[in-house]
Amino acid sequence: MKSLLFAKVIIDISHEAVDRPFTYIVPEDLTDRIAVGDRVEIPFGKGNSIKKGVVVELCDHADIPADKLKYVLSISEKDLSLSDKRIYLAGWIKRNYGSTMSAALKTVLPVRSKVSASVKKTVVRKASLSEIDAAIDTAVRKRNVARLRLLFALKDESEILKSIVDSKLHISSKTLQKMEEDGIIEIREERVLRNRLSFNETKDTLPELSEEQRKITETVKKDLDEGLAKTYLIHGITGSGKTEVYMRIIADVLSRGKQAIMLIPEIALTYQTLMRFYRRFGNRVSVMNSTLSKGEKYDLYEQASKGEVDVVVGPRSALFTPLPNLGVIIIDEEHEGSYKSETMPKYHARETAIELAKLYKASVVLGSATPSIDSYYRAKRGEYELFKLTKRLTGNQLPTVKVSDMRLELRSGNRSIFSRDLLNLMDEALKKGEQTMLFLNRRGFAGFVSCRECGFVVKCPHCDVSLSLHANGKMVCHYCGYTTDSYKTCPECGSKYIAGFKAGTEQVETEVKKIFPKARVLRMDADTTSEKDGYEKILTKFLDHEADILIGTQMIVKGHDFKDVTLMGVLAADMSLFAADYRASEKTFQLLTQAAGRAGRGDLPGNVVIQTYNPSHYAIEYAVRQDYEGFYEEEAGYRELMDYPPAAHMLSVLVSSPSEEGAKNLADRLCTLARSNFTSSVFGPAKALISKINDVFRFCFYIKDGDYGELVKIKDGMEALLSERKNFRESVFFDFDPQNIN
Ligand code: ADP
Ligand code: ZN
Ligand code: ZN
Repeated sequence: MKSLLFAKVIIDISHEAVDRPFTYIVPEDLTDRIAVGDRVEIPFGKGNSIKKGVVVELCDHADIPADKLKYVLSISEKDLSLSDKRIYLAGWIKRNYGSTMSAALKTVLPVRSKVSASVKKTVVRKASLSEIDAAIDTAVRKRNVARLRLLFALKDESEILKSIVDSKLHISSKTLQKMEEDGIIEIREERVLRNRLSFNETKDTLPELSEEQRKITETVKKDLDEGLAKTYLIHGITGSGKTEVYMRIIADVLSRGKQAIMLIPEIALTYQTLMRFYRRFGNRVSVMNSTLSKGEKYDLYEQASKGEVDVVVGPRSALFTPLPNLGVIIIDEEHEGSYKSETMPKYHARETAIELAKLYKASVVLGSATPSIDSYYRAKRGEYELFKLTKRLTGNQLPTVKVSDMRLELRSGNRSIFSRDLLNLMDEALKKGEQTMLFLNRRGFAGFVSCRECGFVVKCPHCDVSLSLHANGKMVCHYCGYTTDSYKTCPECGSKYIAGFKAGTEQVETEVKKIFPKARVLRMDADTTSEKDGYEKILTKFLDHEADILIGTQMIVKGHDFKDVTLMGVLAADMSLFAADYRASEKTFQLLTQAAGRAGRGDLPGNVVIQTYNPSHYAIEYAVRQDYEGFYEEEAGYRELMDYPPAAHMLSVLVSSPSEEGAKNLADRLCTLARSNFTSSVFGPAKALISKINDVFRFCFYIKDGDYGELVKIKDGMEALLSERKNFRESVFFDFDPQNIN
């Protein structure tokens, strides 16, 4: 006899019921068609009244004897309700990325129980506009830059959410307190049910769209008129008018009685952009960010589902705001790695947005100055419609980019970590009172301690990574925090030539101070930002021109507009090229392009110096020429040759366990199972790149296939095998089309 298939069904969704699925038998004629996320009709309760529900799980065993169970009646083809759509999406996420249904449900329903909102704080202008002007004069005289920032903002806005003042204007609570004492502002506290402001929607005249911009808005409008829901990709450099296009599309969607979601990497959401949205759409905008409390989030969701919110701006998770009639999802900076979840389910916001949009017949608009290879590839193949914005509308010039070949520097006797070009430009900037940023590509690559006699490298006893030497003489593990005194002699051979490889952010700082003793230097990296608000504090200081030079890792390249920065030095541009990762060139190209975009944001022209040992690597050459198209062609060719995404699909499977034996055995079993699918190629298993973290062992393997569906099938098979396990010491993590290699 064929074994039975059971469906776990959530009936007539309400908050509480979500946690209790009911089991039904799937009749034979439906077994091939039914899928997780389907809406079904089932008999329910004593009277067997016919109810609707959503399938959250399909399995071949039930805890209740089959003769006590009822049958699924039919699969309903009708439109899903709001909450059904989200359950469907959870099912889709579970199926396509691999996770438990409950983890997927948690992702799409981030706030499930009622939480009452906390207190909302608003900074309210108390002084009159002429008093504000007077205060501005005083602040200018006293060089009180932070105060100035808020004063200027208060000229335009009579009230601003305190969370925005904190997170986007970077005003310290001390400054706020003083300004309150001076009678300029008042901080209003109220128990709230809404996290929005009473905004004066200023109907200022909209700029006349450029030819290129109009082509986009008109195409999208025409498609919407015809009921066509498509995905568009806008490739346009910073300042080419993407945001203006987003806002026009949103306005169009709103005029049709629908709502919009705009995703943006949180770190890239500047005060200016935020205010542009508030001014254009006023009260109908809601901003979601990580500073929102659970209560505030709950309120936002509640308002959203009641149709009281029209535009939601926020990071990846804003995608799951329950808007009743979604019309468009916009994803700005679509290439950003933060759109892929790093925890299970490892969903990608872009693909998930496209799936979500299908449920609503909504459009998806992607935009970037350096589109991901994934998206550009799809656009070129016609899956997305591609648009280009080629002109800067602000008149700001693009910066001048120079390359320093560090091999030549060394050959001509320059042993410093800075090239002569960079040193000269730093000197110039200092003399003119302009600011410099030094971007060190990749934290922790440097500072490792090795013996120059025997090559021994000091590693963390708990993790398979080298320890980094810090200025205080301690060696630290950047994964688990393990700290130990540094060695005087090599524990392997006894040589005294054991030393730190110099070039971490601390070393750069020391070096800068040596060469420019008068320069005021700030350093931003994982060490200086580990304390609460450390990141904001450093940012504020630099913004307030309390330092001339900011040294930092990745986090200084993204987002912020520093008007006085005219020089960006990229140290070790090639470090990220050697990551054992098929996206290494793409990430390097994006980082360098972004870094270049940091210099010269104000009225002053900018310079960029890229230091490298590999000036002829294509990622560096194309970044220097700011040639996206050229880079894309070369990179896409490589991915096709190697069957890497987007040319093919890839599933990474990571098995971890406190027992090395256990991790290896399970990885072997799963790998053998994967190999039984003959269409795919399987690589591994092997120790992960970092084979141990915190005494947990890690093994991984990879599966490649041109067809995503094949990978999903293999994953389903592995899940089935895992569900029969007796012990759960081993954890398994699936990652489809991974951003990083394990
Ligand atoms: P991006 O999002 O690509 O960086 P923005 O939409 O922010 O570009 O536009 C850059 C600047 O140009 C902004 O100050 C914006 O107000 C202005 N701008 C955008 N479109 C136009 C236009 N059609 N005419 C004049 N100015 C524009
Ligand atoms: Zn040694
Ligand atoms: Zn460690």
